[in-house]
Amino acid sequence: MRIAIYPGSFDPITNGHLDILNRATHLFDKVIIAVLSNPIKNCFFGVEERLELIKATTAEMPKVEVDSFDGLTVVYAVKQNASILIRGLRALSDFEHELQMAQANKSINPNIETIFLMCSLEYAYLSSSLVREISFLGGDISDVVPKCVNEYISKLREKRFTNDYK
Ligand code: ADP
Repeated sequence: MRIAIYPGSFDPITNGHLDILNRATHLFDKVIIAVLSNPIKNCFFGVEERLELIKATTAEMPKVEVDSFDGLTVVYAVKQNASILIRGLRALSDFEHELQMAQANKSINPNIETIFLMCSLEYAYLSSSLVREISFLGGDISDVVPKCVNEYISKLREKRFTNDYK
């Protein structure tokens, strides 16, 4: 059984992430989408919120498991019997950081391979931070995030708007 880990912040999950995840399921028997719960990294959404949104998004994807982890990704991968890490590549700007991460992971555990999938053209510009920014400034994100994420953020926005004008 070929198991791959797709690690990331997913703050929140976008259609760009989903595209990579979906394509990875065609290559592996099981893909674990794993939310990094790292106190050093300042995320907007809590781990539980991010997990719930991913679970709702991937409910109909039988090869996908959802989990969270802390510590080293390669250590987590070994615990899950996975030998592959999946990462998505967008612009050239992703490359340097991703190369460094892949090489660092390789030096910690040479048995774990990182595989990069190129982003699809329509999501090349898309990031979680951009989605949050557009949405909280009142823009429409329904085309670039799963339905449950759009609904969740819309509710948060309404709440904030109501509180601001109470
Ligand atoms: P991290 O903080 O680990 O970079 P992200 O949630 O930002 O977590 O990204 C997780 C992975 O998904 C990364 O490999 C990133 O390059 C990839 N990714 C993010 N957005 C997109 C997108 N629009 N298309 C393809 N891959 C993406």
